[in-house]
Amino acid sequence: MAILKVARLGHPILREIACPVHEDEISSDSIQSLIKDMIDTMHEYEGLGLAAPQVHVSKQIVVIESQSSSRYPEAPEIPKMVMINPQVEYLTHEQIESWEGCLSVPDMRGLVPRCQKIQVVFYDEKGICHTEIAEDFLSIVIQHETDHLFGKVFLDRMEDLSSLSFLSEFKKHKAGITS
Ligand code: ZN
Repeated sequence: MAILKVARLGHPILREIACPVHEDEISSDSIQSLIKDMIDTMHEYEGLGLAAPQVHVSKQIVVIESQSSSRYPEAPEIPKMVMINPQVEYLTHEQIESWEGCLSVPDMRGLVPRCQKIQVVFYDEKGICHTEIAEDFLSIVIQHETDHLFGKVFLDRMEDLSSLSFLSEFKKHKAGITS
């Protein structure tokens, strides 16, 4: 088990386009141990997801899992998912807004509009290809994490920066607001 160092906003790797993982490379020891370490790191910092560039590895790998945590007590549960080379397609023009945070933008929350329904095609950690439809919360988390593979953070998706808040102020003034 290894807890990896998380890149914070300003580190250039967060703005790079990550390299796809070759199918033959998925079963390699280096990719398998990276995935395990990413999951351990996500758990350690109570993230809902983590993308490889956030741990200084410019590869198209995302891990997602949601259990109730102190960082996101209201979050619905998502079983652990590993997504390699995920390709997202928007299935609707409908947008939903929610408060997002990011381990690379520590202690901040902001209101972000996202597509309500997406299709995502990806390989799992065994190299099996999946096509899944995701809506609402899962759709938001997948879009947030896959954005990291293309050099984007949630701040780039905010239409209005006036909602941007420090987490401690958010908890005092905005927690409980649903939108
Ligand atoms: Zn993030």
